[in-house]
Amino acid sequence: MHEYAQDAIAYVRLYGCPDLFITFTCNPAWDDIQQLLLHGQSPVDRHDITARVFRQKLKSLMDFMVKHEVFGSVRCWMYSVEWQKRGLPHAHILIWLRNKITSNEIDHVICAEIPDADIDKDLHEVVIKNMIHGPCGTLNPNSPCMIDGKCSKRYPRALISNTVTGTDGYPLYRRKW
Ligand SMILES: [Zn+2]
Repeated sequence: MHEYAQDAIAYVRLYGCPDLFITFTCNPAWDDIQQLLLHGQSPVDRHDITARVFRQKLKSLMDFMVKHEVFGSVRCWMYSVEWQKRGLPHAHILIWLRNKITSNEIDHVICAEIPDADIDKDLHEVVIKNMIHGPCGTLNPNSPCMIDGKCSKRYPRALISNTVTGTDGYPLYRRKW
């Protein structure tokens, strides 16, 4: 970890802040994991399987971004993999692009809105199934995100017609609905 931090400091000194900070989480329901489990086993019983499948998918994701340049040409990148308490891995990925993303390009790269099912049914289903926060707040005061009676992730978020870049590094993404 210390070496990763040294690399990150070197990259920031040379190229400024990274353009993308992506968290990639292992999904224990992936077919690639489920198909290899023996009867009665759960993914957390088989770190050998989850680690290998996660590594393959992480490698594909990195190739998708670095070799296939979905966000543009990549100058440099790094990631660190962490294991959660329940035994599932996730990766924090930092990417520096050759052409920095400008504030008016943010909405082309990230979207916090629920996709329209009439336009992209598959994407709509993936987001509804995996990317919805909560329930928390008064509906579920015991949710792990609740600290001092408030959601520590600041949900529910207010609707906002345009993405706003703040000074704290946490933009407020467009949410028109
Ligand atoms: Zn919450």
